[in-house]
Amino acid sequence: MEIAIVSGKGGTGKTSLAISLASILDDVQLIDADVDEPNCSLFLDLKMKHKADAEILVPEINYDKCTLCGICSKNCEYNALMKVPDQILLFEKMCHGCGLCSKICPEKAIQEIPRTIGKVLQGENESLLFNYGVINVGEELSTPVIAQLKQHISKTKEIVIIDSPPGSACPMVETVADVDYVIVVAEPTPFGLSDMKIVVKTLNILKKKFGVIINKDGIGDEELENFCINEKIPILLKIPFSLEIARKYSEGLPFIKVLPQMKTDLETMMIIIQEKIL
Ligand code: SF4
Ligand code: SF4
Repeated sequence: MEIAIVSGKGGTGKTSLAISLASILDDVQLIDADVDEPNCSLFLDLKMKHKADAEILVPEINYDKCTLCGICSKNCEYNALMKVPDQILLFEKMCHGCGLCSKICPEKAIQEIPRTIGKVLQGENESLLFNYGVINVGEELSTPVIAQLKQHISKTKEIVIIDSPPGSACPMVETVADVDYVIVVAEPTPFGLSDMKIVVKTLNILKKKFGVIINKDGIGDEELENFCINEKIPILLKIPFSLEIARKYSEGLPFIKVLPQMKTDLETMMIIIQEKIL
């Protein structure tokens, strides 16, 4: 069972929930797919090992064959290639590794070579397998790093929890693409509702099963809850607003350490999710 945890914006408590869930479940893999800013590892006392490089394939031109026709540069959607009088310039960081240029080159003058843009790390203890991806400083393409991180999803663990990047752009879409269920974490404020509506729209387009956790319940208004009721979106759980949760989070402790009585609520929620998936 693969479950992604998403939110319309950062700071909603997504990571705290992912760590809390991973800590109460048995036979679980936790994946931190927020590759621009992975911070699940700060909450876990695990020795991390380099597992793999995250790479994309970029073009390399063989000038023994290239006739400087310019077909490759004209057709690159991302303007990563530019024809100048004596060569084709490649702007590496603009190349999305789509492979089009090598396919359409009439002279077969382009081969694809790997370029490292990040890495995948892994750590484990008796109950938890943990992986995260991280993008190299200065790189912009987080989606390929997430795609390669997902190749390390365990086939043997009963539950896989994936902490998604915030927002609803390509990195979130890549993260939730193959999961069985999505948990949307949202705050009951006008901003929280606005961001959640965009996430909900995206998940509906992707035809994903999902439910909402209202975090920091009590700080805002009823609008987010009313929206969920009107749209028939299941409210899986409400986590009360608490300054103590914020304080402990800054010390590297997830909310379940402050509210251990919510363990039963989380376990019940997982049973409900399991029923929704089947
Ligand atoms: S399409 Fe091929 S032959 Fe034409 S400029 Fe590009 S690399 Fe050279
Ligand atoms: S691989 Fe795609 S993005 Fe990269 S240079 Fe070729 S056509 Fe452009």
